[in-house]
Amino acid sequence: MNDVLNIETADITASLRRVFGYPAFRPHQREIIEGLIAGRDAFVLMPTGGGKSLCYQVPALHRRGVALVVSPLISLMKDQVDALRANGVAAAFYNSALGSAEARQVLARLHAHELDLLYISPERLLSGGFLQRLRDIDIALFAIDEAHCVSQWGHDFRREYAQLGVLRTEFPHVPLVALTATADAQTREDIVRVLGLQQAQRYITGFDRPNIRYTVLEKHKPFDQLARFLDGRRGQAGIVYALSRKRVEEIAAKLRDTGLRAAAYHAGLPGEQRQTTQEAFLRDELQVVVATVAFGMGIDKPNVRFVVHYDLPKNIEGYYQETGRAGRDGLPAEALLLHGAQDAGTSRRFIEAIENPEQRRIELHKLNAMIGLAESVSCRRRVLLNYFGERLEKDCGNCDVCLDPPAQFDASVDAQKALSCIYRVGQRFGMGHVVDVLRGADKERIRALGHQALSTYGVGSDKSEQEWTSLIRQLIHHGYVTQDIANYSVLQLTEAARPLLRGEQRLQLAKPRIREQGRKKRPKLDAGLGSYDESLFEQLRALRKRLADEQGVPPYIVFGDATLVQMARDKPLDEGALLAVVGVGQHKLEKYGHDFLDAITEYCMANGERGVEMEPALRDTWLAYQDGLDLDAIASRRGLPLTQAAEQLLRLMALGQPVAPERLIAVKKYQLIEAALTRLGADADLATLRGALPAFVADHEVALVRAAW
Ligand code: ADP
Ligand code: ZN
Repeated sequence: MNDVLNIETADITASLRRVFGYPAFRPHQREIIEGLIAGRDAFVLMPTGGGKSLCYQVPALHRRGVALVVSPLISLMKDQVDALRANGVAAAFYNSALGSAEARQVLARLHAHELDLLYISPERLLSGGFLQRLRDIDIALFAIDEAHCVSQWGHDFRREYAQLGVLRTEFPHVPLVALTATADAQTREDIVRVLGLQQAQRYITGFDRPNIRYTVLEKHKPFDQLARFLDGRRGQAGIVYALSRKRVEEIAAKLRDTGLRAAAYHAGLPGEQRQTTQEAFLRDELQVVVATVAFGMGIDKPNVRFVVHYDLPKNIEGYYQETGRAGRDGLPAEALLLHGAQDAGTSRRFIEAIENPEQRRIELHKLNAMIGLAESVSCRRRVLLNYFGERLEKDCGNCDVCLDPPAQFDASVDAQKALSCIYRVGQRFGMGHVVDVLRGADKERIRALGHQALSTYGVGSDKSEQEWTSLIRQLIHHGYVTQDIANYSVLQLTEAARPLLRGEQRLQLAKPRIREQGRKKRPKLDAGLGSYDESLFEQLRALRKRLADEQGVPPYIVFGDATLVQMARDKPLDEGALLAVVGVGQHKLEKYGHDFLDAITEYCMANGERGVEMEPALRDTWLAYQDGLDLDAIASRRGLPLTQAAEQLLRLMALGQPVAPERLIAVKKYQLIEAALTRLGADADLATLRGALPAFVADHEVALVRAAW
């Protein structure tokens, strides 16, 4: 059993702090954890990066016995186990990746009751008498990760998962939690039915990933667009998705030519090479992976800062899953989509070739929804969430449309020019040729066709190629023009074009966007933490990389980006101040605290900066609080009167430390004070509040609760 925590005395907030170094729970985590500890089942639907793991990891520490975590993604197990061990938790995994000696060792530890968590593949769990084995062991809980794999409806059905219902029947007294990021209603019902979770409490968090900024650019010279985008993001990790293997390799090679650490990843490459690429990416040695959709299933690198779609994805589901790989750590991240009309045409052709008419219809519908998102002139997040059946209260303020609403212009005359040009070339040519004629291009093909003699030849020489392309694309989108997919994508007019052509109707269109707008608005990694010292951040990052390499783990196992950002902002100079940083728990403090404090101290001295130091008295109180003690216990450990202990806690709050008064005083009193504050307002003076409260509530208790308000 792990020794970082005394299960008898600690409350779950204390283990959140001490073991994981986090100041507070995210929405739903507390209820889920408390329910599991009390022995109740749960069904958890949370978006990627929402913090599902903690929901079973904390109860694993608070219940007797070992928690079994079933996961289909073998490559993720090692990461999870490494991350837990880095926090001092006794964890192991058991799957086909282990050699037989290692496997025996894991089983020995299991039987010796040495493990808090065991990650296991469904195959191993269900075969070789493993369930029989479990009868002799205390089991804290079962967690079924990626639970959507039980459903045939889901996109990721696994045969073994369908048999996991046996856990509910064979171990009726062990709480079971199923977790997934997949929302579809049918899949949800399947999970509940197959796993026997009818009694389970359901926790469903919204789909939104507010830290991801969605941007769409009209595709034009895409490699240059990509290069410009990457230019502003040196050193940040990202994924570029493209649809074909050939394109993936080309882009990766060109990026390497520009001096970037980039590699290609697709299913056609040798397994070994894919493995190496994936690992180098996890270890922050590669900056960019250019990949087909095959990349990403088995990785959950938390600090992917951007995902670029070089080609239009086939549907919103895929797009959302791929963009969701950015910003799992909750820090600002970006999703850039390059949208070209041609890509849509190619995808459409593929879909037209599908034999089954029903499937063809569905795929076409999904593609159209994707195009609708790409061409949306209203908030992208609204369109996205709407697709998943969720409504956004107000525009998100963190997408390209919100940040920089597209300018409209009166396109009536330009539209007339384009429409009549399409008409003049006999409705027998595609976009490229029509634009050439409009712009009066001097081309062999035009002369050969005699199109230089048309009345519309050169009438649009005042506009660039991309402006015309954008305009025609919008005409298609608005239904004035169709593109005949079956016939080389030739452009043809629809009935709706008539009044426009005759000048009887006016038309407003959006100005095209080819360059990223509002560069200055690029999100920084500060995540609402305020500004931080970027050069210190870089130094801490280098230190993290060195320590990670020494231990053979990915850098984020040492500390996440959010932790380094906060260190670079607060510049903690001693253990107390360092413990207040998110992601620094007791175990990591002991293991890495020294190195990081040294680096920060050195940096501050070299640059004449002031860091944050706590005076020793305050620090000891803070440490006692971190240990999960309440006010009485803190005062007695510190040998202080209650009022003085409370005063120190107030000062800690004033210093910005996350002190939660509900943990310090009796629940009953806390509720009374809170009710009084709600009634009288936080501005009410102490005497008024006192007057509204019974005598057994002490002044310092009122002060603590009020300060936290
Ligand atoms: P999911 O499995 O839902 O995709 P994870 O469990 O991997 O997400 O959590 C995503 C990230 O958020 C991890 O880095 C995790 O440590 C962090 N995290 C989870 N819960 C909290 C919390 N209460 N406070 C701060 N960070 C958290
Ligand atoms: Zn928006």
